[in-house]
Amino acid sequence: MLEKIKALAKEYEREIVERRRYFHMNPETSWNEVETTKVIAEELKKLGCENVKTGFGETRCGVTADIGGGSKCVGLRADIDALPLNDEKDVPYKSQKPGVMHACGHDSHAAMLLGAAKILTRIKSDLKGKVRLLFQPAEEHGLKPGAQALIDGGALEGVSAVFGIHSMSTVPAGELQYRSGPFMAAADAWELVITGRGGHGSTPETSFDSNAAAFQVGSALQNIVSREISPKDAAVLSIGGVKSSSYVFNIIPERVEMVGSVRTFRAEVQDHVEEAMKRVVKGVSEAMRCKADIKYNRVIPATVNDSESTELVKSVAESLLGADKVKESELIMGSEDFSYFGRVVPSVFANLGVGNAAKKCDFPHHSAKFDVDESVLYLGAALHAAFAWSWLGKH
Ligand SMILES: [Zn+2]
Ligand SMILES: [Zn+2]
Repeated sequence: MLEKIKALAKEYEREIVERRRYFHMNPETSWNEVETTKVIAEELKKLGCENVKTGFGETRCGVTADIGGGSKCVGLRADIDALPLNDEKDVPYKSQKPGVMHACGHDSHAAMLLGAAKILTRIKSDLKGKVRLLFQPAEEHGLKPGAQALIDGGALEGVSAVFGIHSMSTVPAGELQYRSGPFMAAADAWELVITGRGGHGSTPETSFDSNAAAFQVGSALQNIVSREISPKDAAVLSIGGVKSSSYVFNIIPERVEMVGSVRTFRAEVQDHVEEAMKRVVKGVSEAMRCKADIKYNRVIPATVNDSESTELVKSVAESLLGADKVKESELIMGSEDFSYFGRVVPSVFANLGVGNAAKKCDFPHHSAKFDVDESVLYLGAALHAAFAWSWLGKH
């Protein structure tokens, strides 16, 4: 069957590439994917998919649909949003919208999953259950994650596992990278305010210097990862910005604000960093006769891959791409809102290489020249379909 799936994918290759180019030319940012949603929903209806639902998170964005029947159900996910960025490539399929661009490859994700829908429709009678297609808006949004909106909208009802792919320009074209367990980091955001007593720069003894406290806090924070977290655990604490309430040569400011982020993989480490940050910020500020307030927000959870599903991805990918093209990934410090699915059902996320310097497809994600090697996209469609077929056969 895997050979048949690959052959069907090849048959649809031109359509998959055309679709990707259409999405690339007509990008829509997070929670604005109205036209993209319409195009996907129409195509799914034409294919005869059932339960085509659109509109999640109180918007008109996002589509879910089913192929096949029965009580078992496996989910396949593609995110569909673009970024607020000017497309600076010189290609015929360049973005037609100034200031909006598919610079993370989500256009290819949508096209690959539509390709998989076509393949799955052709092998529907061989499926031992149902496939739920999850076209998810707003992966890049951060504050209102599209994945959570889909879950809140009932998209995972009856679903027992979810598989997702990210096209990666940093991975050689045609290679699949997988990892069991923690895969991508949790992203937390924090902001703090240190309040002292402002005064004249010439008489520091009459003030409580919030700047002096902020310098100590900034440097003490760097001891958390290096001194309190095991070197065997990965964690990053970065300060993104520091702002004094005044910026004048002879004034000691009343207040300093600071923002930053934390990336971790394990819940214990995440809990520890949050607790330590609060302790250090408060303790150091008080020692400097200032007061501190810190807000710590857990924005995106870590992406943790289910081991059994990861094994399945690995074996399916080895058959479709060749064993030499399937490699274990390093931990990735970036985050993915796919992680929300993994908190509800066993899930697996993998990276498909679309990097190719000869085709100018090796620019980093979120760069204005980002592009993908389209010759790989049919394989992505095949991987989706093959994972679903195999998972349903095994459960
Ligand atoms: Zn991105
Ligand atoms: Zn992305």
